[in-house]
Amino acid sequence: MSDHSERDLLRELFPDTARELFGSGAGVTVPTLGLYPVAGDRMALVSGGQLAELEPLEQKGHKAAHCDLCHVTRSRSEAGIFRVRASERTTLYLTLCLNTEHCQRRAGKQGLEQLAERVLSMAAVAKEE
Ligand SMILES: [Zn+2]
Repeated sequence: MSDHSERDLLRELFPDTARELFGSGAGVTVPTLGLYPVAGDRMALVSGGQLAELEPLEQKGHKAAHCDLCHVTRSRSEAGIFRVRASERTTLYLTLCLNTEHCQRRAGKQGLEQLAERVLSMAAVAKEE
């Protein structure tokens, strides 16, 4: 087992996830918004044709955590902290319920759209540099 470089990780994650979620491209309108569990306990945030990778971090401490998606306060065992790397210099940390199905149901479409906008707009800005 060698350590994957970040580029390898992204290459590994995105093509498969993208294929799975968007099919082969043209004319496919299936899942356009949502959080999807992918390999290695990571999550993929999808909005339109965009994807962001959420990488889980080690849990520390026992303080309550406030979910950035459904905005419910949870105990540390019920929430996870995820790192989103938009670029070399731009990193965003998100706290999310581990039970993402229930979380996304609570947040609804609007909540997901807001989160996606926050995360993916940052990634888009980073890409334009
Ligand atoms: Zn939540």
